[in-house]
Amino acid sequence: MNIKPCNKRPILNPCTLPGRNYQVDPYIGCEHHCHYCYALNQAETDWRKEVLIHEDIAGRLASELTGIPPQTIYLGWQTDAYQPCEAQYRQTHQVLALLLEKDFSASILTKSDLVLRDMDLLQKMSAATVSVSVAFNEDHTRSLFEANTMDNESRIEALRQLKEAGVRTAALLCPVIPYITDVTPLIDMLAPHTEKIWIYGLSMINRSDQNWQNVAKILENNFPDLRKKIETVVFTKNHPYWEKLRQDLIQLQRDRNLNLSIHV
Ligand code: SF4
Repeated sequence: MNIKPCNKRPILNPCTLPGRNYQVDPYIGCEHHCHYCYALNQAETDWRKEVLIHEDIAGRLASELTGIPPQTIYLGWQTDAYQPCEAQYRQTHQVLALLLEKDFSASILTKSDLVLRDMDLLQKMSAATVSVSVAFNEDHTRSLFEANTMDNESRIEALRQLKEAGVRTAALLCPVIPYITDVTPLIDMLAPHTEKIWIYGLSMINRSDQNWQNVAKILENNFPDLRKKIETVVFTKNHPYWEKLRQDLIQLQRDRNLNLSIHV
């Protein structure tokens, strides 16, 4: 992996998530290279070969935080804060240490158990939250759609340890791929270790987008009988597949008293 410096852009950026004003992407690009990732449509480099890092991330972020009252900062909008190069480059670690020093908290979404390395910092924050996302029931299928991520078991074990250590945890079941993702067993795996599970269907904007092109190729090569069916569901708003899934999830939530946030 080629890691190159980038000094030109701000580190702190506005965040559109409810309850969050700011977000930080410690990297520009993501080695995890999930083929469905919406951020691939704006990628500046080939993430399989090159990721950019902010030089002096802590020093520059410290000056950008001047005058901003302590609050929770979202980490990992268009990147994974714990992608493999974080083990060496420690950009996320530096950001968390600075946020803690200034009485801020962090809300992190990741697909890696490397987050456990920073558990001591997260424990000391007043409102830190760590979420992991999962989308596939089998590891072989995961490896087709997510070129360079960890298996579900490692992610869920990270959640377990974080929760046990007193850090708030949540999960994303995302993206639900019609006819491929079986949501109930994944909910069963996640529920004991999370306060809330957010569920999102595979969402695509245009057939010409890079992420759909990637997914279509994987489907063509590995699930040829499902390819057309999946495409129809994905590009049809309120398709009966989504409606049925929504109703099933509402029922599951009631039956098991789960805290689900359903967006399919
Ligand atoms: S981990 Fe997240 S940011 Fe990185 S490629 Fe996958 S979906 Fe995109």
